[in-house]
Amino acid sequence: MKKKHAVLSMDIEDWYHLDYFAGKELDKSRSMLDGLTKYIELLNRNNIKTTFFTLSELADSAKEQILYANQSGHEIACHGKSHLRPLQMDLRTFAKEISEAKETLSELIGKEVIGYRAPCYSIDRKRFDLVIKAGFKYDSSMITFNEHPLYGKLDLSDFEQQVKGIYHKNGFYEFELSTKMFMGRNMPVSGGGYIRILPWLFMKPMISRYLKNAEVYVLYIHPFELSDAKMPNVNDTSLLTNIRARKGLYKMEAKLNMLIGMLKANNFEIKTFSQLINDI
Ligand SMILES: [Zn+2]
Repeated sequence: MKKKHAVLSMDIEDWYHLDYFAGKELDKSRSMLDGLTKYIELLNRNNIKTTFFTLSELADSAKEQILYANQSGHEIACHGKSHLRPLQMDLRTFAKEISEAKETLSELIGKEVIGYRAPCYSIDRKRFDLVIKAGFKYDSSMITFNEHPLYGKLDLSDFEQQVKGIYHKNGFYEFELSTKMFMGRNMPVSGGGYIRILPWLFMKPMISRYLKNAEVYVLYIHPFELSDAKMPNVNDTSLLTNIRARKGLYKMEAKLNMLIGMLKANNFEIKTFSQLINDI
């Protein structure tokens, strides 16, 4: 039987980095990063290692938590500096930002950070090539979900697809986020937001069907989704945005435990992206 791999990645950013709040006045003194500690503890209890894509601007304020993740054997990777969308940055600014972020994080943990994920999956081939040039060894910013307005499109036709969702060329890897066709559309079965917002009764069978046939499963979630703090009110945000940002937060931990159970029942080995590169 072929090996099955899962990565339960988290993007280390705070609630105010959410793109829906861009340009709004936000009380950044309030943090929801307690959700990060909670996630590290949940993983440690289950003896699971994962990859944390980290914003380098949090390297000071969340230093202890990032080091706690690192010391627990998790992988620290890079999520850029400030969560600006890459497609809104010119190429030179983007290249500078990812190099600086890589350096800051590598210095913090005392070893080279080799993975990158673009904020909002906002990436194109030109920027992707700059990620390779900056010395990263892998990227996980690709998601095939045309209905989402922020996601970029990434053409990797010159890459070899090793297994579904993993692309490789000259020692560089791309790990695609998991999606599943549903009524003719690709639905992410990977995103904290979708797992959090949509009813578990709907998501569970969809994830189940995906896991039966897939060899790779990639999840992404955020600290605010596991935080015990209440998300601060933001003026001038639409009702829809408020619902998207807050819905289902209190059920997330239970859903994660169920998801881990489903992965184990389907013989998935749960690991970091670095370990995954070594295993394929
Ligand atoms: Zn992000």
